[in-house]
Amino acid sequence: MIVAIDGPAGAGKSTVAQQLAERLGFRYLDTGAMYRALTWLALQRGLPLADGDRLGQLADENPVMLDEQGRVWIGGTDVTASIRKSDIDRMVPVVARHQPVRQVMRTRQRELADDGNVVIEGRDIGTVVAPDAEVKVYLNAERDVRAQRRLAERPEIGADALATDLRLRDQSDAARMRPAEDAVQIDTTGLDVRDVVGRIEELVRARQPA
Ligand code: C5P
Repeated sequence: MIVAIDGPAGAGKSTVAQQLAERLGFRYLDTGAMYRALTWLALQRGLPLADGDRLGQLADENPVMLDEQGRVWIGGTDVTASIRKSDIDRMVPVVARHQPVRQVMRTRQRELADDGNVVIEGRDIGTVVAPDAEVKVYLNAERDVRAQRRLAERPEIGADALATDLRLRDQSDAARMRPAEDAVQIDTTGLDVRDVVGRIEELVRARQPA
């Protein structure tokens, strides 16, 4: 079974998806980490971020590896910590908007999804990567709350810079941030993680054979 969890930054996707996967005994796939890792490699190699074909080729030649412990590797380097830095936050949408890049990523994500029970989080999972997912959820929250959550994760960046980054990232990601028509939408603004996980777990159990 595929459980697709989409939504903007700070909506709670990662925490919810990880806890849900653990409760269900499913694998967890963080597609944002794949785009982040590619962005890291492109910056490291000094490639022009406007060159979609070159970036697509880079993605093709350097598959992102995600291990069971949640570590992220690309081109033989463990980039788990580096991809959470604010320069990567700012640059990922620039890399992720190119069709050749998305093509490579989607093919790889579909392969990973086809391999048994999985919870996948991203922006376009329910709409494009796995339109046939049995459970689709779109998480959202008020922007102030999303900014506060990000601040709790990354206090070193500062509230103002974070709020600006979030707004810019929302704008750049807007083209891909649309709930699938059959997605269950959950506003996580006033909810805690346990409630959200519980609600999605109910959706999953209802789809599982008795
Ligand atoms: O989920 P996360 O915030 O780590 O995603 C980082 C960025 O990767 C997003 O802002 C978006 O630009 C891109 N992304 C995407 N499609 C996905 C997942 C992430 O374009 N499925």
